[in-house]
Amino acid sequence: MERDEDQLAALESVWYEVIDAVMSGRGAQVPCPECQADGLRVEEQGDRITVTCPTCGRSVEFQNTSA
Ligand SMILES: [Zn+2]
Repeated sequence: MERDEDQLAALESVWYEVIDAVMSGRGAQVPCPECQADGLRVEEQGDRITVTCPTCGRSVEFQNTSA
């Protein structure tokens, strides 16, 4: 369980820059932190934002605190 939490923390850390960019309206301008590919897909649904990398398939969902 602790290992899972560590991995989650690491994941959030690696994606923090992307999340920060999305929050400030620059989401499409940053590369995927996992595979460095451009073209991250940002989807907003209400107060949730999902960022998906079509290249490696990684996705993260987080709350849109700016809404
Ligand atoms: Zn990727």
